[in-house]
Amino acid sequence: MKFICDDCGKEVSLQEGTLSWSDEGNSLRGFRITHKIDQNHSCDPQHVGYIHLWIVTGLTGFTKFTEILADYWAKGYTLNDLAGLKKALNQIGLYIWEQSKKETSN
Ligand SMILES: [Zn+2]
Repeated sequence: MKFICDDCGKEVSLQEGTLSWSDEGNSLRGFRITHKIDQNHSCDPQHVGYIHLWIVTGLTGFTKFTEILADYWAKGYTLNDLAGLKKALNQIGLYIWEQSKKETSN
């Protein structure tokens, strides 16, 4: 499968891509997979969080991302973009699943 940039609509490679979000005002929103230059969150850059696609598509990185989310929730942040987070997780999960199938068939 290929990742498609949520901003420009073009294919985004693992090396160029990020999963990013905004954590302004104790609210998590704007989860999207884009080229790093297309993150385009309309908030102060210090409130933009991101993880590189090549990292979050590895099992260690994926686990790290769930830790990041757990830390936010422990601090009382609210998830205000369930659909965006699920869409991103579905794509990442599908990618990891496809990679694991390749490994077992070789
Ligand atoms: Zn893009």
